[in-house]
Amino acid sequence: MPAFNIETCARPNILALEPYRCARDDYKDDGTNILLDANENAYGPAINHTDVTQDTTTTSSAPGPSLDFLTLHRYPDPHQHDLKQLLCNLRNTHAHTPKTLTPEHLFVGVGSDEAIDALLRCFCIPGRDRILTCPPTYGMYSVSAQVNDVGLVKVPLLPAPEFQLDVDAISQTLSSEEGKTIKLVYLCSPGNPTGSLLSKSSVEKILAHPTWNGVVVLDEAYIDFAPEDASLAELVTEYPNLVVLQTLSKAFGLAGIRLGAAFASPEVARLLNALKAPYNVSSPTVAIASYALDPKRGLNMMRENVSKLMTQRDRLLEELPKIPGVGRLRGGKESNFLLYEMLDTQGRPDNVTALAVYERLAEEKGVVVRFRGKEHGCEGCLRVTVGTEEEVGRFLEALRRTLEEVRGVKAGKDEERREEAASGVVA
Ligand SMILES: *Cc1c(COP(=O)(O)O)cnc(C)c1O
Repeated sequence: MPAFNIETCARPNILALEPYRCARDDYKDDGTNILLDANENAYGPAINHTDVTQDTTTTSSAPGPSLDFLTLHRYPDPHQHDLKQLLCNLRNTHAHTPKTLTPEHLFVGVGSDEAIDALLRCFCIPGRDRILTCPPTYGMYSVSAQVNDVGLVKVPLLPAPEFQLDVDAISQTLSSEEGKTIKLVYLCSPGNPTGSLLSKSSVEKILAHPTWNGVVVLDEAYIDFAPEDASLAELVTEYPNLVVLQTLSKAFGLAGIRLGAAFASPEVARLLNALKAPYNVSSPTVAIASYALDPKRGLNMMRENVSKLMTQRDRLLEELPKIPGVGRLRGGKESNFLLYEMLDTQGRPDNVTALAVYERLAEEKGVVVRFRGKEHGCEGCLRVTVGTEEEVGRFLEALRRTLEEVRGVKAGKDEERREEAASGVVA
């Protein structure tokens, strides 16, 4: 027997990790389920179908993404200059500064998840440094911190429905003795799962902290669902301590290609580019991303799909409050998902009800949403991704029936009632 012992050989912080779980581990996509759990773009990728059905393998002047299969034996471009310029063009709105973003301000990676991790490896010394997060928030910040053996300091957002930054509490923490070990503050705007856009002035107050030596990371994964000019990406030209994360996974409908970006000062961008694996982004990914970001090709389609989703979001905002058992909207409307309370028969937000609704929706109605009731300040909440017109119709009907069943108010279905009583779901 070799002397190898994984328990003493692997790093303790890695041994302590829980494997990533998503709602789809519980409910597989069998092709019939409506998937409203992962905030993907229900209307699909920002790619015109007639474009891609043409032959795009041989000529770069083809209208579709020019996927040149014949050069796949070559390594991809490690600098991704042209793709970075397209990302800059999208964010150079000059709504926040007259200064201009250039490719020197960018790092691109395998989803924004790579940037989240790269920043940790760039700034935090394992076993010593920490990051600050503001729950309820995206889970990857703390997972990446744990992988890198970096500590976590939590300063919760102010209560729902605003879910804004507690600027005073964050500033005090950054001023404290502990604050000296905090290298990164991860903020999410619009927030996941809150859907709230953080106010620009609150972000600027943290950026302007007088003594703290660290970086503010502003995750704008959902920014294209927010009002025009909401992105603060161009502010990296003003603040050397700001990094803004974006992704093609949500509004662009391209979660499958794994492309994320970090806008930063040229100095920080240089570090991130120096530490990455040289060929981190594949050439098919660059080709599809370049198509999607081209104003004459994918960009219009992205905007059309976002506008269709906004129509369905407004429909949900109108219809959900009419369903008995649906409580308050928590958080904002600046994203492609909504966070709603589920109520017990007493009218109180309730995790038992929310969890039962979540499970029954998936198992009996084929609609997968996300249970968020365990998150800070989200008691009884489900997070529902906005779907297509048809999906939203089916979801609303399924939710209405499920809440009737779970809350035991459905008339004339005694058998179902007995079943529910036996499983303890009826309050
Ligand atoms: C979905 C999401 C991302 C996207 O991650 P990718 O790795 O780019 O797919 C990033 N941040 C938040 C808050 C998200 O919800």
